[in-house]
Amino acid sequence: MTIHDARGIRRIVLHHTASDPFRTDWKSIRRWHRARFKLGIGYHRIIERDGFVMDGRRIQRSGAHSPPNAGTLGLVVMGWNGNAEHSSWAWSKAQWDSLFSELLYWRDRLPDALICGHNQRSSTLCPGISVPEELRKRGFPDMARVITGADK
Ligand SMILES: [Zn+2]
Repeated sequence: MTIHDARGIRRIVLHHTASDPFRTDWKSIRRWHRARFKLGIGYHRIIERDGFVMDGRRIQRSGAHSPPNAGTLGLVVMGWNGNAEHSSWAWSKAQWDSLFSELLYWRDRLPDALICGHNQRSSTLCPGISVPEELRKRGFPDMARVITGADK
């Protein structure tokens, strides 16, 4: 794991867990990631179904969520957007509210960081939505800090 200066973070990358948010929590993520990464949870922040925000990996450590991870902050929201069989697994209003708070908090503290979805960085469905479209639709107040195209 690389120690990095969190002030140099240039990307805030959004993920969903692609799991049933009523039956999975931060401990589920820890279990999944322990199996894959030696150091456990690869995200820095976790937003649970009720909007409660948990710490994941410490921000001063490089994450493991969307390679190349250097200079990124990984933020995951429990749930599964775009799951046709389980529409109730999509992010809840409480989660969107917490996500806006998190994004504005980090925007203010990480002046070089731009926001994007995992699917803008690599070929994955995660987080099951177009982050720029959804943020615009929901009235995110600082679209200048959101990447609108691919981030490759
Ligand atoms: Zn992801």
